[in-house]
Amino acid sequence: MSNQDNDTIIELKAVSKRYGFGDAESYALRNFDLKVKRGEFIMIMGPSGCGKTTLLNIIGLLDKASSGEYILAGKDVSRVSSSKKARFRAKEIGFIFQNFNLVPTLPIIENVSLPLIYSGYHKTRRLRMADNILEHFHLREREYYMPYQLSGGQQQRVAIARSLISNPSIILADEPTGNLDSRNSHIIMEELREIHSMGNTIIMVTHNPALTTYATRVINMLDGEIDTDIKTVDDSELPKGGKGEKVSVKVLSSRDPIKMEIQSESDVVVSGENVTTEDADVLVMPEEQPKTPAKKSTKKTTKKKTTKKKGAKK
Ligand code: ADP
Ligand code: MG
Repeated sequence: MSNQDNDTIIELKAVSKRYGFGDAESYALRNFDLKVKRGEFIMIMGPSGCGKTTLLNIIGLLDKASSGEYILAGKDVSRVSSSKKARFRAKEIGFIFQNFNLVPTLPIIENVSLPLIYSGYHKTRRLRMADNILEHFHLREREYYMPYQLSGGQQQRVAIARSLISNPSIILADEPTGNLDSRNSHIIMEELREIHSMGNTIIMVTHNPALTTYATRVINMLDGEIDTDIKTVDDSELPKGGKGEKVSVKVLSSRDPIKMEIQSESDVVVSGENVTTEDADVLVMPEEQPKTPAKKSTKKTTKKKTTKKKGAKK
């Protein structure tokens, strides 16, 4: 954490993203400055092509700025290696996309457990955690369905469960309701509201002005720059919380909160077809290969029952 400003979780300083050279040169982001405090719920709006996705991808360490500085949770991540970025991402960031980005060949429960794959937890434990969070999203009875067997709204709730499973403190959502009808949009927004109320920071891109009522701050972008930036909630009123303790996530219409376990060494993985970035290699899931053997998993009694899955797993 930075010493002076503990509350700032994200800081971009004069960040630019340039495409092309010479005549073809264009800027997706231009000298972009942004300070985000913990607990903000920011909505980003603006016409198509103004740089919203680029901004989110840079914040999420899925893409790299051409110039400028990026301080994430007090650390300068502008020039760190891909593997370091993966670690930052794992600790701090969960992603939700417009098209859900579930892996079509994996059952729901395994999709949700994907971000834990490098955690060092045994598969049984990862599936148990996924099972637990799916229960609270009222999707447990479908956890061995394949993604195509769920509705869009259900798939997006699965994606939200996946984004939360390694307990990040920042959720980045790129038009998460863009493919949903208004009823399902509402359900997703209520879930994001709950996640925010626990003290998480959310940055969400949307085209729908009606949704800005959920935000504490609304940024309008134009041609790679901030056009307007309006806080609707005072900093002192932002929800507190965040990492470091057990976080309970209360999900819409669920009576009892989930206890999510903190997994600081976990690695977040995004399995998206359309995540096109230079470190896509660290995002795309390989098969079941824990990269870093867990430091912490060692003193498990090996006697533990291993599999109690409900089938469907090869
Ligand atoms: P938004 O999400 O607001 O619609 P984007 O961030 O996707 O906008 O894109 C911002 C600008 O950057 C657009 O003009 C787009 O054409 C351009 N752009 C995005 N990705 C690339 C790329 N890989 N190569 C060239 N230009 C790109
Ligand atoms: Mg976009």
